[in-house]
Amino acid sequence: MEQQPILCPICKSQSLSANRETFNQKRAVIGNLAFGTQGLLYGHTGSKNVIITCLSCGYEFKPGEGATEDDFEEKNSVANQKIADIETSKQNKRLVAFLVLIAMIFVIIWLFSLIN
Ligand SMILES: [Zn+2]
Repeated sequence: MEQQPILCPICKSQSLSANRETFNQKRAVIGNLAFGTQGLLYGHTGSKNVIITCLSCGYEFKPGEGATEDDFEEKNSVANQKIADIETSKQNKRLVAFLVLIAMIFVIIWLFSLIN
């Protein structure tokens, strides 16, 4: 199998850092990319404990979830869908907060009407 460079599925960057899941991300060595990362990306031994961090956008993914040039288009649409889902859930939270605020205002008005 011909190995292609792994790309960030979000921003297509090749600036990736592979770390053990338990590894302190803040201590990750910037520029850990190169072939060490590629080895981890393709490695089978203990690869499930490895988290790949994109140094460009900060997206974290597991080995095997990275994109290559060939499948980037498809993966990118999936990634865009994920981002869209996150945006939707954010909007839903804002809507819920707004509705709770309205409900509280009505309760306060109702309480005042009871006092009067
Ligand atoms: Zn990225």
